[in-house]
Amino acid sequence: MRTKTIVCIGAGASATLVAYHLDRLGFRGRIVLADRHPGNGPAYASCDHRHVLNVPAGNMGAATDDPGGFLHWLNHLGIDPPVVAADFVPRQLYGLYLDALIEPLRADGRVIRVRVGVCGLTREEKRWRVDLERGAAIQADAVVLAIGNLPPRMLPGAELIDERLVVNDPWRCRLEDFIRPHSRVLFVGTGLTMVDGVLSLAPAARNGVHLTALSRHGRLPLPWGTQEALDFDTSDTAPSLRSLLRQLRLRVAAGESWERVMNGLRVKAQTLWTHLSPADQARFLRHGRAFWAIHRHRIPDQNHATLRQLQQAGQLEILPARLERLRQVGNRVEARWCRRGQASREEGWFDLVVNATGPEAHYERSRDPLLRQLFAAGHVRAHPLGMGLDATPAGALRGANGAISPGLHSLGAPMQGVLLECTAIPDIRRAAERLAGALWQDLQA
Ligand SMILES: Cc1cc2nc3c(=O)[nH]c(=O)nc-3n(C[C@H](O)[C@H](O)[C@H](O)COP(=O)(O)OP(=O)(O)OC[C@H]3O[C@@H](n4cnc5c(N)ncnc54)[C@H](O)[C@@H]3O)c2cc1C
Repeated sequence: MRTKTIVCIGAGASATLVAYHLDRLGFRGRIVLADRHPGNGPAYASCDHRHVLNVPAGNMGAATDDPGGFLHWLNHLGIDPPVVAADFVPRQLYGLYLDALIEPLRADGRVIRVRVGVCGLTREEKRWRVDLERGAAIQADAVVLAIGNLPPRMLPGAELIDERLVVNDPWRCRLEDFIRPHSRVLFVGTGLTMVDGVLSLAPAARNGVHLTALSRHGRLPLPWGTQEALDFDTSDTAPSLRSLLRQLRLRVAAGESWERVMNGLRVKAQTLWTHLSPADQARFLRHGRAFWAIHRHRIPDQNHATLRQLQQAGQLEILPARLERLRQVGNRVEARWCRRGQASREEGWFDLVVNATGPEAHYERSRDPLLRQLFAAGHVRAHPLGMGLDATPAGALRGANGAISPGLHSLGAPMQGVLLECTAIPDIRRAAERLAGALWQDLQA
């Protein structure tokens, strides 16, 4: 029988975990991980030790039956003092763990990682022709779109500003290289990307660099606090947003800490989301998304404390405001914003502006050649809520007419509309196991 080939587009955590689980199931074909960047995705590329995982080490393992796998691997290295389950360790260590997972499979040729972009897919006699940016093509029996997050949308006016003054993709650079003594830095966005940037610039901020961050609500991610999770009832298979909120309020009124309630909800988020009606999903996004984001994207307590110290020392200012536009004047940037609840405009001058607004959710707006080709050929379609791609909960992608595109799958960020939560490792490893199982069955059939 012909050797089967699975091509994963992207070689980040999602693709790595799919390859790992396929191997665990006994798949003995060829798995190609094609990525235009080196390493295993932007999340684990940072060499800054202050950029720690935002999930405790004890829950970052590669398999749902072994959530402590990463922790055991770390301690097997002989790290001193030993890491405990509740610790938040530097993210680059997780990149090394991902490498170690597939190293044996690469060594005997079952997994091949190639540094090349993919620019198109064509269905040819029950297989996919995978076109590579350098001109060659691979024939694949199945394709996994593991392309992760899209870069953030351009800030208004940024396209006309010198690239040394505006950082549009902060995950792939070192902000320290862009500043001088007494620089004034503006972060647009106050979520996890801003937190990373502020932590990198904290030593400079203590020495005269001034940091400003703005977002519509001006809310910071909350600290982790307790890591215990409340057991949340998901027996109602047709819950309404209203009934869920009632359940939440009752728990908090009964004295449960909000952290425990959120941790419990977080674990069940995919099940609850997929059972909500489309109208309730849209309502949640309209009214609850900002609150959900700060409660679920939590940060280690020590990082939260650093942010508060910088704020109290006047080195970091957080504004509830909407950015209207940026304009370069000489070698500085003038930013104009409107504070929440006020009609008047304010202006400020900055030496560097960092786009920390988070990834673009509309995949149909991407300028990436692959996505443009996939939409144009009708192999994929946008999720109706404007978040990622349309697919079944198991990750089978739907084409323009709503039918499943055979042999074309996804996991991770492109699944955000279908599952709400599919970006953190505990969600990705579950999706990777499910997808590996489905691929295994399909290819055997
Ligand atoms: C800064 C940051 C920190 C994070 N921290 C944590 C954390 O602490 N804990 C946690 O659980 N999660 C964290 N996350 C979430 C993170 O997204 C996931 O954990 C995971 O890394 C996602 O992996 P992925 O493979 O889906 O996407 P990515 O890691 O983004 O990988 C996708 C890859 O696809 C490649 N690609 C895209 N298009 C093409 C193409 N056309 N051709 C070839 N290659 C292509 C890209 O180059 C990229 O390398 C973090 C995310 C970010 C951005």
